[in-house]
Amino acid sequence: MAVTFLDPDECLSPHWEMRQRDHVELVWHKPFEGVGRVRALAWTCDCRAVVYELLQAGGQAFIRKTTQAEPSPKVRETHRWPIEEARRVWRALLLGKMR
Ligand SMILES: [Zn+2]
Repeated sequence: MAVTFLDPDECLSPHWEMRQRDHVELVWHKPFEGVGRVRALAWTCDCRAVVYELLQAGGQAFIRKTTQAEPSPKVRETHRWPIEEARRVWRALLLGKMR
């Protein structure tokens, strides 16, 4: 199998769309400490100042929003949902229907 060399400047992860005027506001909390293992299911490209990740913890999932800033990034998280519901929110968020 041929090895493909990727341009390091090329974006590989999806970009979120600008939020729509009638988008649904998500509630963003300070990160909930004390969860066990968290697994990243999806994430947006980090070429933007705001990066979203869809994270799974046990049988639930949530979205983490990281705003890259100095001196330290600002991190916020949504509620936890059943994974299928979290995926629906994730898709809506990428499309700008929720934010
Ligand atoms: Zn990018």
